[in-house]
Amino acid sequence: MAKDAFGRGLKDLRISVTDRCNFRCTYCMPLNKYKWVERRELLSYEEILRLTGLFVRLGAEKIRITGGEPLVRKQLEILVKGIAALPGVKDLSLTTNGALLAEQAPPLRAAGLARINVSLDTLDPEKFKRISQRGELSDVLAGLRAAQRCGFHPIKINAVIERGVNDDEILPLAEFSRDHGFTIRYIEYMDAGNSNHWQLDKVVSKKEILQAVAARYPLREAKRTDASAPAVDYRFADGRGKLGVIASVTEPFCRECDRARLTADGQLVTCLFSPSGYDLKSLMRGGSTNDELMERIAVIWRKRTDRYSEERREAISSGTGYEPQNRPKMEMIVLGG
Ligand code: SAM
Ligand code: SF4
Ligand code: SF4
Repeated sequence: MAKDAFGRGLKDLRISVTDRCNFRCTYCMPLNKYKWVERRELLSYEEILRLTGLFVRLGAEKIRITGGEPLVRKQLEILVKGIAALPGVKDLSLTTNGALLAEQAPPLRAAGLARINVSLDTLDPEKFKRISQRGELSDVLAGLRAAQRCGFHPIKINAVIERGVNDDEILPLAEFSRDHGFTIRYIEYMDAGNSNHWQLDKVVSKKEILQAVAARYPLREAKRTDASAPAVDYRFADGRGKLGVIASVTEPFCRECDRARLTADGQLVTCLFSPSGYDLKSLMRGGSTNDELMERIAVIWRKRTDRYSEERREAISSGTGYEPQNRPKMEMIVLGG
């Protein structure tokens, strides 16, 4: 297995199949002006499958399909079917905003998709429109119901919590998830990309999130089965389900980070906060063999020293000040979270 400079393997691959999205979430991609990837630069499903197979040979066993919004790419089930059939893939999942899930859940399930995460930050239809700037809450709820009917399990709900925006939704989202058999995962608001005007005081910490839930529903920390999983899991003490918190800001987990990212235009990105990626598409389209591509990926991975979130925490706690705008990053819509 490929190991980076800190001994971290390459176990988890996140594939962005498009940078397009039918939403413009204020915390992710609030802009309309953005240079979209041109169609001819997009990897085809065959190209994605070829590269995924090479990542799997280098040790990747967990694959997540993301975007942009992955469901805006046509016939995604073709790609899902191909990846699900790759020997060595132990876990295949999808992250979606859920708007198009009602129609696509059945073909995705039939193609071999195992798990789904649906992003949902509020249960208030007006607030939903304000945050997503485009979406309808009712479509996402219909998507969740359809996914459940098709037998996806577990279905996780991802909620980014931003102070003053939806911190009053922490408890309602927990109750909704418990009542309907979903697992809620709260995500600390991150300084991803360059366009969301992130500020530290907008971050609702894991501690605050847990306090808000536990005040009503006592919680117990669940045993970790996968040390590199970003979420720390808790169980409701009454036995009715689980929740997770991804505390990238207050409790970074870079030390365990075994995630590689492949952008829709074929760049390998070694950290969510990287300023740029490594172009695999040109090598592939230029005629590189599988062995040459694998060697290139392995060389990039071996040199990897990323630990952005730990550096952020050190800068914040040292009091020297942390200015995210001084660190240019790729947009979340390119990297897929
Ligand atoms: N469009 C899909 C969706 O929204 O689920 C997939 C791509 S989206 C970039 C992946 C995840 O990143 C979502 O759960 C989203 O909430 C999360 N995300 C986006 N911007 C974020 C930010 N600034 N901080 C924390 N999470 C963020
Ligand atoms: Fe929102 Fe996901 Fe689209 Fe970002 S990619 S704007 S989080 S729906
Ligand atoms: Fe991994 Fe980078 Fe996130 Fe740290 S900041 S956990 S290295 S993606």
